[in-house]
Amino acid sequence: MSRKIDRRTFFERSAVSSAGLFLGGMVAGCSVKKSEGISDYDVMAEVMRYRKIDAHEHVDLYSGGPEVQIDFADRLGIERLVVSKPVTTQTGTPDEFREANDHILKAMKLYPDRIMGQVTLNPQYLKESMEEIKRCVDQGMVGIKVYYQVKINDPLFYPIIEKSIDLKMLILMHANCQLGMAGYRMKYDTHLNPNTSLPEDFVEAAKRYPEAMLQYAHTGGGGDWEYACKSFRDYPNIYVDTSGSNNEGNMIDFALEYLGEDRLFFGTDTSYYQGVGDVLASELNEVQRKKIFFENYNAVLRKGGRDVA
Ligand SMILES: [Zn+2]
Repeated sequence: MSRKIDRRTFFERSAVSSAGLFLGGMVAGCSVKKSEGISDYDVMAEVMRYRKIDAHEHVDLYSGGPEVQIDFADRLGIERLVVSKPVTTQTGTPDEFREANDHILKAMKLYPDRIMGQVTLNPQYLKESMEEIKRCVDQGMVGIKVYYQVKINDPLFYPIIEKSIDLKMLILMHANCQLGMAGYRMKYDTHLNPNTSLPEDFVEAAKRYPEAMLQYAHTGGGGDWEYACKSFRDYPNIYVDTSGSNNEGNMIDFALEYLGEDRLFFGTDTSYYQGVGDVLASELNEVQRKKIFFENYNAVLRKGGRDVA
């Protein structure tokens, strides 16, 4: 094969499967030359064809303030970003979570038509957490985002989950599920974060509260996402978001097989190109693309009357 054919073959084969990679170049200002029929796949036209809600987003956490996130969102046609600032310390005191939520409230005021906030809290401080839910929901927050201070199935979480049911709000929980090595599963040794929620913890909470809506965070965040998807097959109130920077090629296709097309949310967790590219690169039909990019999350928002028109 000549080098020219190699190059053409490369483009043809990788235009879709490496959409994330291509997006990186395109958004940065490069473009794929269409000469010699190398590729007529217009990635950005494809990207902009779909309405999008980013189901897992942050501000002031690890990659800049809201203006940075809105800039990415504008370039990728993301209409709404569901944004939180979880407290990533083990302590997670009321002062810490109130301060984190203040960042989100500020971002919501700056971009009221773009940013939808999630309140963060720590169930170890129940009274303060319940007060914080009220304070933030009264100011327009649409959901709850929690971290690894307490497992999702811990009794400390029960009143928080019950409150989310009353409010018809989804709970996005940080999650982990470690890979085994050479056939040895290391019993989910999460090292510094022993209370990180595992797939089994989600299942237990979902069984106890079938009316709750739980979102397993970032299948693209590393770890054994296949095991997670298999674990959730029979629990229709567990959703997963596809965010993260470690997303493997068949991640969404695999998730679709186990969870169906209504429980997957597009998300980025600030890995924008991977998040968008991964949906486009998957074996999805038009209806499924629309559901994952936008409609599934909007359906959850609709339950509480918070959907996007
Ligand atoms: Zn995140």
